[in-house]
Amino acid sequence: MKVPMFRDEKKYLNEAFDLGYHAGAGPFTGKCHTFLRERFRIGKALLTTSCTDALEMAALLVDAKPGDEFILPSYTFSSTATAFVLRGMKPVFVDIREDTLNIDEKLVERNVTKKTRAIVPIHYAGVPAEMDVINDIARRRGITVVEDAAQAVNSTYHGRYAGALADLGAFSFHATKAYSCGEGGALCMNREEYFQRSEFLWEKGTDRSLVIKGLKNKYHWVDVGSSFLLSDLLAAILLAQLENMDEIQKRREKLYRAYGESFMDLEEKGLRLPVIPPGIESNFHAFFLVFPKEEQRDRFLDLALERSVSPYIGYIPLHSSPFGTTLGGREYNLSVTDRIAKTVVRLPFYLMEDGEIEYACAVLRDCAERVL
Ligand SMILES: *Cc1c(COP(=O)(O)O)cnc(C)c1O
Repeated sequence: MKVPMFRDEKKYLNEAFDLGYHAGAGPFTGKCHTFLRERFRIGKALLTTSCTDALEMAALLVDAKPGDEFILPSYTFSSTATAFVLRGMKPVFVDIREDTLNIDEKLVERNVTKKTRAIVPIHYAGVPAEMDVINDIARRRGITVVEDAAQAVNSTYHGRYAGALADLGAFSFHATKAYSCGEGGALCMNREEYFQRSEFLWEKGTDRSLVIKGLKNKYHWVDVGSSFLLSDLLAAILLAQLENMDEIQKRREKLYRAYGESFMDLEEKGLRLPVIPPGIESNFHAFFLVFPKEEQRDRFLDLALERSVSPYIGYIPLHSSPFGTTLGGREYNLSVTDRIAKTVVRLPFYLMEDGEIEYACAVLRDCAERVL
């Protein structure tokens, strides 16, 4: 996966290098925190080494007991589940919507039990889940909502940004995501009760942040935690990416629209394209196709590969994956998830030059036409 480089990545990286502060919680980290807070109107943000780490911090802040439950879509990446399973929590998998492939919000409440401590929706392909409905259930039932916003940095839902839509949120700045420093992430917090404790968790369970703020002259071990901080060298690269976010997004939108136009008329033959529901602005994280039949999807993949363009199949649903089945996954009947997993493809999606866009569209359209 090619990480797009714009103007300032090397400049900021050199600056960070010359400053000599290469650990976490340095000056570039501070600039990224301010950027995330102000741009996305998030209560507090902390850079982490990955979205996975941000989710692990969120799971610590949820403060559940072993055996407590969390609700998530089965159609997601392993980290959405692992972070909470590490705390001894039990995943409760919910089916997804046909259109956005996000958790089906209408199925959430019936899966709430006395043990439910968290709901963890993801924003698939950069389109936020139905957060108003999910937050309403959570508020009534006293449950914490954690957005896995790995794919939705800079997406909005009814005028509010992903990361600011729930109690807690997690961003990814991995190389496969829209804005990247190679490996990186951020924990977003929108309730003040998390602010101080999160800094302790972030710095190995110490109150070092109070020493940095001049509130204490010696730091102590005060909590659990881990080393969740991102190196300031990577934060320097990230800052450049964040500052160029609009330009990166414009170029992603161009590819998204080009794919949309290429495949539009194949909808008559049963091909399904992604939709962006009203009230939502996508960051154009990804573009997918859903074929009527599994054989068509598989043949499409073969044909595309023969011509050296490689789309990829999406997630293997967690409830039917090797580890998921050891956690009770076999008891689930998630018909939309199972069908989508067999019929969806994600098209190549990175910052392409105009010629590459034309080529990818022409080749992939031709392959789709031949299998439909
Ligand atoms: C990419 C991704 C993650 C993991 O992100 P990392 O930064 O690589 O840890 C988690 N959840 C979802 C939905 C993702 O797409």
